[in-house]
Amino acid sequence: EKVIFNGSITERSQLNIDIEDRGYQFGDGVYEVIRVYNRSLFTGEEHLQRLIDSAESIQIKIPYTIAEMKNLLLKLIEENNLFLGIIYLQITRGVSQRTHLFPSADVEPSFVAYTRELQSPTEAMEKGVTAITVEDIRWLRCDIKSLNLLPNLLAKQKASEAGCFEALQHRNGIVTEGSSSNVSIVVDGKIKTHPATNLILNGITRQVIVDICLKNGLEIIEEEFSVDEMLQADEIFLSGTTTEIMPIIEIDKQKIEKGEPGPVTKKLQALFNEEIKKQCGF
Ligand code: PLP
Repeated sequence: EKVIFNGSITERSQLNIDIEDRGYQFGDGVYEVIRVYNRSLFTGEEHLQRLIDSAESIQIKIPYTIAEMKNLLLKLIEENNLFLGIIYLQITRGVSQRTHLFPSADVEPSFVAYTRELQSPTEAMEKGVTAITVEDIRWLRCDIKSLNLLPNLLAKQKASEAGCFEALQHRNGIVTEGSSSNVSIVVDGKIKTHPATNLILNGITRQVIVDICLKNGLEIIEEEFSVDEMLQADEIFLSGTTTEIMPIIEIDKQKIEKGEPGPVTKKLQALFNEEIKKQCGF
């Protein structure tokens, strides 16, 4: 299995990550997950641009252009013969003696990427999934795709222990997002999703959905909604790179409407699949 390490492709088994890598010690870095359909990157440039933006927000300068990263990723897909799956990329502030202060400017960031085979979650997308609500205890820069995911992990674990797929986070009664997905509701045919502020990650899938809605005459508003509003909604769905568009049919043991995926969500799933076909021919 091949991986990318600092600008070149090497064997995973040859990789040495230092114990004083700042990603390992502090979570001092940012990451991305990109879908691969039919050996092609789906919204690859958008993800790579967000990686650059996230890195810049924490003062890490990525020493590669989008084109250079894209070429490396396509080479990696070929080397690993990846047809359907994901690529994980992360960049950290590099290796230096442990101190909270940033290392000197000559320390290079550590950049890694690897692939994993992954099917689309088709059964869950058809049947819908269940969720719990949890308090959003994260920091105030959730727009940065930082490696620091501890609150997200605690939320997801809690959901799993309750037999649910996802944890929907709320801050002062306002729904922000899932532990690794964005959340939208449908009321009277209109879709509502949290605005792209510092309180959520502006998901690439979320952005594709906004685009699809505008192109297809579906009404979508980027506006806050409360937990109560969500529980009363006609439909609720998650969106994310690995989650795709996933109907939520039950929250905190309470059925959403009839407790089955609704027509707007299904329509969006179909339009999303068309978008994948358009970009990746799959
Ligand atoms: N929100 C959080 C907290 C996430 O971790 C993710 C992605 O994994 C998303 C939203 C969805 O973002 P995207 O559609 O870019 O995958």
